[in-house]
Amino acid sequence: MISARGLAAHEAGADLVPWDLERREVGPGDVQIAISHSGVCHSDIHLVRGDWGEQEFPVVPGHEIVGEVVAVGSDVTDFSVGERAGVGVYVDSCRECANCLAGQSNYCLEGMTGTYANPDRRHGGYTQGGYATTIVVDHGYVVHVPESLDPAGAAPLLCAGITLYAPLRRFEAGPGKRVGIVGLGGLGHMGVKFAVAMGADVTVISHSPEKKADAEKLGAQHFLLSTDSEAMDAERYGFDLIINTVSVPLDTNVYLELLGFHGVFVNVGLPGEPFSFDAPRILNQGRSIVGSMIGPVSQLQEMLDFSAEHGIHSEVEVIPAEYINDAYQRVIDSDVRYRFVIDGSTI
Ligand code: NAP
Ligand code: ZN
Ligand code: ZN
Repeated sequence: MISARGLAAHEAGADLVPWDLERREVGPGDVQIAISHSGVCHSDIHLVRGDWGEQEFPVVPGHEIVGEVVAVGSDVTDFSVGERAGVGVYVDSCRECANCLAGQSNYCLEGMTGTYANPDRRHGGYTQGGYATTIVVDHGYVVHVPESLDPAGAAPLLCAGITLYAPLRRFEAGPGKRVGIVGLGGLGHMGVKFAVAMGADVTVISHSPEKKADAEKLGAQHFLLSTDSEAMDAERYGFDLIINTVSVPLDTNVYLELLGFHGVFVNVGLPGEPFSFDAPRILNQGRSIVGSMIGPVSQLQEMLDFSAEHGIHSEVEVIPAEYINDAYQRVIDSDVRYRFVIDGSTI
């Protein structure tokens, strides 16, 4: 076994504290990464705070991982020691179902193996994530992180980035498309950057008036304050695509009404409670509500290469390990611009 140090929660709602853990030995198909940066996703917080129900503890969260390859298994030819690599939200899947065989392993019919807090189907025990010094992952779930990207700014691309990139591609954000991003947080700000780079007309829809200037700096052409009902009414039928990244339940009807003909509302936010809508809101204009969950490994690589090409990275505040519990509270308070990233050398 390989010794590692991490930050773990030992029960739901508990603070994260330093914890020694073990990683498996590097197998023939594995890559070992020394973690330099680990992003803090709101999903980490939902899970350790118990928002999503019961689960195993202790948990080392973290699924926005960037670092240096320090060992590769004997069968690995696509990664070499010394290069920069990344790991996102999942580290394994069944590899046999129709979706895995079609290259959509994030939608594995047996369930993907999440980077943390999931039963490890091949090695036993539970997976432990990226708030740690090192991790061992099968090479099929590792990506190359271009050297031209700042490693701290690249880390959040591994979850926040792909979660917005995938639906923007699926629904063809580009010139002539009016795209609304609801919630300017870790996910939302990446959505703005990608949609702008793809050539769409982009509006940030936010409940925080003070984020207007940032929305413009990030490249959005418009800002819509969701608490201003007059402004919201004026945008009725104003969008082709709306992506909701908000971490609490919203009045979905209000956002559906912003969609024009065949408009699509993509939900990526994951509050613990269900949300509801009135049927006429989707009958009118033939609107759709769809979900989207991260993206497959191949698209993760495509998104990183697109980011390198367009100079896209996350706006980050790099923090030492001991600040993690304060950082969690600030994320809950929407007081982060726009992603905390743990400096791995401080763990
Ligand atoms: P985040 O950084 O906390 O951003 C969430 C944003 O929601 C905030 O910046 C804020 O934007 C808005 N918001 C927060 N509290 C609100 C309130 N009380 N009323 C209205 N708006 C509020 O979180 P994140 O890391 O981007 O994650 C967002 C959600 O996506 C989480 O639920 C997370 O679990 C989920 N997620 C899903 C996937 C997926 O694959 N589908 C992947 C990763 C994360 P404004 O201030 O601009 O309004
Ligand atoms: Zn995440
Ligand atoms: Zn599968």
